[in-house]
Amino acid sequence: MCGIVGGITNTDITPLLLDGLNRLEYRGYDSSGLVLLTKNNKLTRERAVGKVINLEKKLKLKTNRIEGKTGLAHTRWATHGEPSDKNAHPHISKNSISVVHNGIIENYTDLKKLQVDQGYKFTSDTDTEVIAHAIDFFMQSSNSLLEAVQKSLKKLKGSYGLGVISSKHPDTIIAARKGSPLLIGIGKNGNYIASDQMALLTVTKKFIFLEEGDVAELTIEKVTIYNEKGD
Ligand code: GLU
Repeated sequence: MCGIVGGITNTDITPLLLDGLNRLEYRGYDSSGLVLLTKNNKLTRERAVGKVINLEKKLKLKTNRIEGKTGLAHTRWATHGEPSDKNAHPHISKNSISVVHNGIIENYTDLKKLQVDQGYKFTSDTDTEVIAHAIDFFMQSSNSLLEAVQKSLKKLKGSYGLGVISSKHPDTIIAARKGSPLLIGIGKNGNYIASDQMALLTVTKKFIFLEEGDVAELTIEKVTIYNEKGD
């Protein structure tokens, strides 16, 4: 299990995500990546094998700087699928849902079979990708990202620290915790998530540690936490 950092702010969040990844490096990892909601709420992603500096180099090579006020970043320690660009997080379903995940989804083979039948195309060998597709599936019958994530979590067996964003709900981040730590950082210019408070020390020292089974909904000015029962 490795690192997660993310947030929703009123300025470009890219520098904070990269700084957070660098602060999480001490944990060891094999690849890293980030996703941002860029112009017109498009999910824009970059990933790289090896050190965070490789990701930074890739981002610098882009002619158009990747900028966004909402984003997620991840350092991966591969459990399912070799360390590679395509297996690095964030994972994306149908250009609409993006997730970063720490932990292991034990029933991913069954979920994958079901999702292939539902028409989902898999672009990685990870257990994580089923989470993105499950959320996309439930979004088809719901207008609430929170609700779609809660329904998806009920289908998962295993452990997760999770961050989710959606191109259709650019003003929200959903976070969840079960068997893998996750915390919320309350900042002056926005709200944040991380697997370790080290990642957020430049923006806040106010933290809420999620409890087992909690799901959190973050907007720029508000954080709401639901327990496993949905209360
Ligand atoms: N099981 C996931 C994967 O292999 C997440 C690994 C992690 O916690 O970094 O991609």
